[in-house]
Amino acid sequence: MKPIHVIGGGLAGSEAAWQIAKAGVPVVLHEMRPLRQTDAHQTDGLAELVCSNSFRSDDPENNAVGLLHAELRRCDSVILAAADRNQVPAGGALAVDRDGFSQAVTAALSAEPLITLQRGEVEGLPPADWDSVIVATGPLTSPALAEAIGNLTGEDSLAFFDAIAPIVYRETIDMEKAWFQSRYDKPGPGGTGADYINCGMDRDTYEAFIAALLEADRIDFREWEKNTPYFEGCLPIEVMAARGVDTLRYGPMKPVGLTDPRTGRRPWAVLQLRQDNALGTLFNLVGFQTKLKWGEQSRILRMIPGLEKARFARFGGIHRNTFLNSPKLLDGTLRLHADPRLRFAGQITGVEGYVESAACGLLAGRFAAAERLGRAIEPPPPTTALGALLVHVTGGHLAEGGSFQPMNVNFGLFPLPPFEGKKPPKGKDRKRLIAQRAVADLGEWLDAA
Ligand SMILES: Cc1cc2nc3c(=O)[nH]c(=O)nc-3n(C[C@H](O)[C@H](O)[C@H](O)COP(=O)(O)OP(=O)(O)OC[C@H]3O[C@@H](n4cnc5c(N)ncnc54)[C@H](O)[C@@H]3O)c2cc1C
Repeated sequence: MKPIHVIGGGLAGSEAAWQIAKAGVPVVLHEMRPLRQTDAHQTDGLAELVCSNSFRSDDPENNAVGLLHAELRRCDSVILAAADRNQVPAGGALAVDRDGFSQAVTAALSAEPLITLQRGEVEGLPPADWDSVIVATGPLTSPALAEAIGNLTGEDSLAFFDAIAPIVYRETIDMEKAWFQSRYDKPGPGGTGADYINCGMDRDTYEAFIAALLEADRIDFREWEKNTPYFEGCLPIEVMAARGVDTLRYGPMKPVGLTDPRTGRRPWAVLQLRQDNALGTLFNLVGFQTKLKWGEQSRILRMIPGLEKARFARFGGIHRNTFLNSPKLLDGTLRLHADPRLRFAGQITGVEGYVESAACGLLAGRFAAAERLGRAIEPPPPTTALGALLVHVTGGHLAEGGSFQPMNVNFGLFPLPPFEGKKPPKGKDRKRLIAQRAVADLGEWLDAA
């Protein structure tokens, strides 16, 4: 049987190779380290953790990443098995000894007879005789390969920067203070004229907000990120605030064409929030990309009227990250429309985080193996954490006209659970119902596979 080639021995590539081998299919895993390093990796180990040693919450009932852990364990994930064996105390989180973890993954893959580990950079598109390939080269994909992928997909379909505005759960916005309205009530294509949630500010509140931004703690750029210029179009809000007290009011917070129904007047400044997923559970803060520390983001953004009790599905950030416009480019099993022998997995598809990258690798590996064996395989249902993540990446949830941004798994990506009565359950009850449904639906998917 011809092997499947996996490029990149990180979180996604290691998991993909493992799943392929476990399905009985040979696999060649190409990893460029240590012959060529990235700017963040330090070792030659597979599945090296480049920063934090945490896989985040391990609570499957109240946290979506905890649920994803549980699903990965049920799918015989090598990443979760190595994490469990190398756990260090971290309260409710799953944190690991990073060296022990990476060594355990390297040992497991090296001991697997169907896996051949080949060290060396893949410097462009794979040769034509590799008929099934998984590209899992991560946020720091080597420049030669990134350029080749950019040429194949179109320059504007491959991003090199993540300039992320924070995203909040819709149900935590105080609609007694905020209101729905599009600027000048314009319906636009596919809109209603009241598509945005608006949070208005009077002058005192705005100036206090600017002052807080100027004093806030920021995350420093790493040495190799310092020289990467900002695009003027996506400056962090704290950089805009430093340019002058009114810069934000003439930029993303401009109030023109908006009327606060409580006063009947145009506010001094307005934050607009745009629907982020088709389910309408998540809204992003338009133009609010930031490098403030997460604690500072929640403290300062909650000064905005209507967001006092906002919960964040993701915080803002700006860092180097190579990722595809996956909803446009990939099909439902992560294959590239333009060249279906290529699948993508991990952070390069627009999932965010160690666990999500491993999960994406697991899916790509299973899809590729099934294809090689001539077996049909359905994607996991969108009611599971694996399925919800896949739908985020392949586009089912993207709101009309929205731009694709990487994201961690979160309960906002899941369809509402079935409920009795008029109002959907909130908070813990909602999470519990989603988690219970996911467990049942994953079981059915695994039985059918
Ligand atoms: C600086 C930084 C800090 C981060 N901190 C965190 C964090 O704290 N927590 C978190 O959850 N996530 C963090 N991330 C995101 C993190 O990168 C992902 O969660 C995870 O590592 C992605 O897994 P991956 O398998 O997609 O990519 P990676 O784990 O990066 O694996 C990609 C692999 O591909 C190899 N490779 C690249 N190009 C080629 C090529 N052409 N040929 C052969 N091999 C190649 C690389 O050497 C690497 O081993 C961080 C990212 C960066 C850049």
